[in-house]
Formats: sequence, C-alpha cells, structure tokens
Amino acid sequence: MPSLLSAKLIRKSYKVSNNPFKQRYLEILKGVSFTLNPGQTLAVVGESGSGKSTLARILVGAEKPDSGELLFEGNNILKDSSFSWYQNIRMIFQNPAASLNPRASIRQSLEEPLINARVGSSQTRKERIAEVLELVGLRPEYADRYPHTFSGGQRQRIAIARALMLNPKVIIADEPVSALDVSVQAQIINLLLDLQDQLDLAYVFISHDLGLVQHFSDKVLVMHNGEQKEYGRVGEVFSQPQSKYTIELLNASATYRRAIER
Ligand code: ADP
Ligand code: MG
Repeated sequence: MPSLLSAKLIRKSYKVSNNPFKQRYLEILKGVSFTLNPGQTLAVVGESGSGKSTLARILVGAEKPDSGELLFEGNNILKDSSFSWYQNIRMIFQNPAASLNPRASIRQSLEEPLINARVGSSQTRKERIAEVLELVGLRPEYADRYPHTFSGGQRQRIAIARALMLNPKVIIADEPVSALDVSVQAQIINLLLDLQDQLDLAYVFISHDLGLVQHFSDKVLVMHNGEQKEYGRVGEVFSQPQSKYTIELLNASATYRRAIER
C-alpha cells in the first residue's frame, strides 16, 4: 500500500537578484523527504526562516519545487495535471483573520470552495455548511455573521471549517495556533485531534516549537536553513535525537518552558 502523501528530495530556490549579469539564487529547501499515512500527524519544526512555509506552499500545490517528487496515494501529483489539490490537500494558516474575507459572511466563505468545485445544489451546500460548523464546535446560525464578530479562536475554527468543506484527506496547518492566546491554543489543538479521529485526517503540522508537537505527532521533521536535520518517529526523535541542532532545539524549548512556568 502506498502512503497517503510522501515527499522525496524536494528542492526549491528563489532568485534573489534581478541583475541579468549576476543572477543569484538562494536555496530555501535543500532536499526534504517524508511519508505520511492516513490519520497521522507529521510535525515540521524549525525556527523562523527555515523554509517551513515554503514547504507548505509546495504541499498544497501553490508553488512547484525545482526538483523532487510528491506522491499522493502513489501518484506523482507534480506531473498529474488532473490531480485536484483543492479537494485533497487543504491549508490552514497562522492568522485566521487574514485567511477570511472580512466582507464575506461565514456562509459565503464556507460555500466558496463548494461553488468553485461545482459541488452540490444550494440546498445541499447549505446543509453541508451547517454540518461542518457543528463539526468545528460552532452553531449553524453563526453562518450569517461576519468574521469581525468572532474571537480569534472562533475565527480559526471557521478557517478549519472552510478547509474541511470538500472533505480533504490531508490538512497542512502552518503555525495554526501561534497567533492565539495560550488558553485558546489548547482548544484548537484538541479540536484538530478530535477531527482527526472522526475524519481520519492526516496533518502536516508546522510549528517553531518542538515541545508543543511532542504530545500529538507521530513523526517529526526538523528543518534548519532549508536542510532536513532530523526525521523520524516522535518517540525516537525525543529520546535519541540524532542531530546537534535538534538537541539545541530541545534544550531551548525546555528552558523556555521552565521560564514561563515560574
Ligand atoms: P519559515 O516559514 O520557516 O519561517 P519561509 O519558508 O517563510 O520560512 O522562508 C524561508 C526563507 O525563504 C526565508 O529566508 C525567506 O526570506 C525566503 N523566501 C520565502 N519566500 C520567498 C520568495 N518568494 N522569494 C525569495 N525568498 C523567499
Ligand atoms: Mg512560516
């Protein structure tokens, strides 16, 4: 059985100079590989600038890598123009305010993916919106309100609902709780875990905090300056980290935790 999603040696550079006589490229991803199975969580961890969001954009098809393979259920989707990224792999972002159109009602924001994919009638779309709002712990009546009337945590629930509308198999969550209050962070993570159980979702959960992901990930990929420093099962990475950089991250996370617990 092929895995649900796997990446093989993904590389990406950006051109950083427009001078035609002196073209300069910056290598942002220097060969990233992983496999992810249904219902599993892969944590991608690294400090700011390590290339996590670039990887996220590649995983949702928003950008093409320079080389490498991306397999979804065994198909090389970088070469398959009929693959619907939109229906299978969806993203949620750090800042839920920025991912929702302030001028659109929640109903409009949730209906849009269905309309774009030409799914359902207006009646069945309405039912799906109510169903998904309940899945994320919001009342169906909220559909007629606008984003500014909700708290940050509620807005992130709405963004999650939007990602779920077409019943994807994989969700790429790029720092989904980093912009939220600590008390709300746990609620959103618990929601993601409940949804994973109910829907057999696979997550790529991006975070700068290695300590955070320890409790709910199956695998961990540690990145630093676009390099894959560590990849493995969560228990092994935490008990026997292989790279010096991972050990530094673990120490930083422990020190930070002790500082805030005081
Ligand atoms: P992270 O999400 O881990 O903070 P990013 O993937 O956002 O990292 O960025 C990694 C590096 O790539 C950064 O140095 C950033 O400045 C650079 N970068 C990201 N997008 C572009 C782009 N479109 N053009 C040039 N450089 C970019
Ligand atoms: Mg980022």
